[in-house]
Amino acid sequence: MTSEVRRDSKSHHLDAREGAVINVIVDQPGRGLDRAFSYLPPKSAPERIEIGSYVLVPFGRRQLPGFVVGSTDEQPEFALKRIAGPLLDDPVFNERQLAEAEWLAEEYDATLGDALRCYLPPGSTRNIRRRAVMLTDAPLATIRQMIGGRSRKQLEVVEALRAAEGEMSLDALKSKLGSDPTSALRSLEDKRIAAIRRDLTPPSAQLKVQRFASLAQSREAVEAEAIARAIRAPRQAETLRRLLVDQVPVKASELNASAVNALARDGVITVEELAVRRAPEEAGLGEEARVAPPPTPEQAEALEVVGQTFDAGGGEVLLHGVTGSGKTEVYIQAIHRVLDRGRTAIVMVPEISLTPQLLGRFRARFGDQLAVMHSAISAGERFDEWHRAKTGDAQIVVGARSAVFAPLQNLGLIIIDEEHERAYKQDRPPRYDARTVASQRCRAEGAVLLLGSATPSIETYWTFVEGHHGRRIVDLPRRIDDRPLPGVELIDMRAEAKLGRTGTFSAELAAALTDCLDVGNQAILFLNRRGFSTFVMCRECGFALGCEDCSVSMTYHYGDKAMQCHHCDRRERVPDICPSCGGTDIGFHGLGTERVADQVEREFPDARVCRMDRDTTSTKGAHGTILRQFASRQCNVLVGTQMIAKGLDLPDVTLVGVLNADVGLNRPDFRAAEHTFQLLAQVAGRAGRANKPGRVFVQTYNPDNYAITRAAEHDYAGFYQDELSRRLEVRGSPYPPFGHLLAVHISDEDEDVASARATKLGHAVRRLAARSGGEISVGGPAPAPLAKLRGRFRWIIVPRGLDRDALRQVAMQAVEELPAKDRANVYVDVDPVDMM
Ligand code: ADP
Ligand code: ZN
Repeated sequence: MTSEVRRDSKSHHLDAREGAVINVIVDQPGRGLDRAFSYLPPKSAPERIEIGSYVLVPFGRRQLPGFVVGSTDEQPEFALKRIAGPLLDDPVFNERQLAEAEWLAEEYDATLGDALRCYLPPGSTRNIRRRAVMLTDAPLATIRQMIGGRSRKQLEVVEALRAAEGEMSLDALKSKLGSDPTSALRSLEDKRIAAIRRDLTPPSAQLKVQRFASLAQSREAVEAEAIARAIRAPRQAETLRRLLVDQVPVKASELNASAVNALARDGVITVEELAVRRAPEEAGLGEEARVAPPPTPEQAEALEVVGQTFDAGGGEVLLHGVTGSGKTEVYIQAIHRVLDRGRTAIVMVPEISLTPQLLGRFRARFGDQLAVMHSAISAGERFDEWHRAKTGDAQIVVGARSAVFAPLQNLGLIIIDEEHERAYKQDRPPRYDARTVASQRCRAEGAVLLLGSATPSIETYWTFVEGHHGRRIVDLPRRIDDRPLPGVELIDMRAEAKLGRTGTFSAELAAALTDCLDVGNQAILFLNRRGFSTFVMCRECGFALGCEDCSVSMTYHYGDKAMQCHHCDRRERVPDICPSCGGTDIGFHGLGTERVADQVEREFPDARVCRMDRDTTSTKGAHGTILRQFASRQCNVLVGTQMIAKGLDLPDVTLVGVLNADVGLNRPDFRAAEHTFQLLAQVAGRAGRANKPGRVFVQTYNPDNYAITRAAEHDYAGFYQDELSRRLEVRGSPYPPFGHLLAVHISDEDEDVASARATKLGHAVRRLAARSGGEISVGGPAPAPLAKLRGRFRWIIVPRGLDRDALRQVAMQAVEELPAKDRANVYVDVDPVDMM
């Protein structure tokens, strides 16, 4: 039996004496297990159990992985089971991290198990594999008798299992039978015919160790041995000579195995297991300078502020600098100063695989002091990089949002580049915002948080303008060497349409592209949509083909002549006849990157096009390859989605065209204008980065919209003011930054169940909101903008108010009131960034 322990026992000491009770959080998703369970220490090596140990524990009929979070002396009245043993050699978190995880779980309505999983080394998660197994090899006739006449299902299970040599995964069995075999298996288990066996999958990554041979005696002695063995055992002599020449441990696999064994037995050499590092491959875009340029006066000022904040024991600095103003250089020099004082640093970037240039610069300046953590490297590489940070081999971690949990000791600085990016919010449990976690971690460790952006998020900028908690802003208003920001021209596509021009390219953009290519420069064309067309429609009845599982239209991909859903990746052939009217005239509408690339090639004879979007970058390293093609001028026009909007700094790019600036404006999201402004400012920043001036053309149907005009004027301050007043104007509670909001998501495979549950939850939220007295206005329940996703119907409730804690309490309590089985299909997203 296991027992429940309250989670509020804040003391995290641990005592693994015989008789002590160890508290373990099991590593399993789901609210039902969100509490600590008690165990006795393992029989063997109890001293290896510490706070943060990742252990295997018996749990009901299963064995589960779990995290050790503490111990008590209180003996429960019933007998406790023992921890089976550790799954990893070292603890995965310490007491500071445990406290952080407790905060994380509380703050983002996650289980403590979900939060603690953030600290596991990459590739260590162990999943439970359920397999059906035969328990007997009795003849079929005997088994038939044991089952009895009426259980056809049980007999089918037995037959399937026998065909699979007595064992198969539950999923395979389920699909073979076409129904859930669990209850049949339970009956078979009672009769001792078959059972479900649960075991853990092995970790997908761990330290890679190899055997290395080295000399065990002095060089003179070994030389003598080599001579003595030259005739009798020439392979041994050869092995010794190799070791004498190399002077470092040599991989045993490169040597003759029997010679190595004999020499080790004789005590001439030693063989030991050493960890080998799997270093991620990196290809920069060119030679990067290894030395620091002297900082400009503005950069010096920024470094001074960071230094003062550091000396004051930590704090937060916002580096607001236009693209090309030297922010990255400030990051690098700030890290140097922190390392000089014996501290370490984390650098977060929105999606690191998209920024080979940034990584190249950091590598050139910091070499092996750097560990990188991102999804584009293999599990083994990721594990090794994590380990180097943990052991202090690396002092700087560069990575995506999860790098905020990097196991560095003595943290002195966290940098968040492109602070405004949505990628810093995690969209699965725990649904944390890495910016908030970073802020929390810096406070706990007395470190500096340095946020950088050309277009800070409205909420971040507001807290810095208000100067809460001594936060400071540093401006880098000019580009390095006073290179001008590119001129941005807005093209009114309504006027173009009136003149009968409805093509992809306006007359101005077409002319500018021709000129640009004529003089041998490069251009970037930016579009929000990948694929060939954005929808497939019957020209006879207007029916648009949609995804069966998601409430969106399918996108046509010319390359593989198929329609694809961009939400669930379902692929389908384009039908010959319309499923609605039986018509045969099916056409493709709207623009995707694939079609634009095709059009550029046909309409501009000098163009050599490369395309970058999720389709062309799905394989490892493809992103870098495309960028290198463009950087080395194998192609002169780069067509792409937002992937190309950031981090690219190429001297010959003098033209940037934004084909449809309006796509994001109409999203049902209160940050739609902000995102449009940020994206346009980023894209525009790609032009004219070196000594050639750049031009930017923005095609839009909304040339008067403030997000578009302010971006064209490079006017962040103006946009900030416009946006603040718009957010104040709404009825009810104001939007962030003045107030807070959260999103309660409800979903179900059954349309009616989803809507009934949403209605019920909506009532509860409104009732609790009214009672809280905290001026909460409740939006919804309403079908989510993406009303159906992967076969599930989705609803959303959005409470807004001034008091963030009151909001969280209302939402969480409303969810608590639901029956347990409904709660699994509901979640609360605190500080949501994706309102779809
Ligand atoms: P940002 O990160 O703001 O886009 P970068 O740090 O990439 O700006 O700087 C833009 C360009 O200016 C880069 O090519 C960089 O090498 C160069 N640069 C940055 N700081 C200096 C400096 N102090 N002196 C000379 N060149 C600099
Ligand atoms: Zn879909």
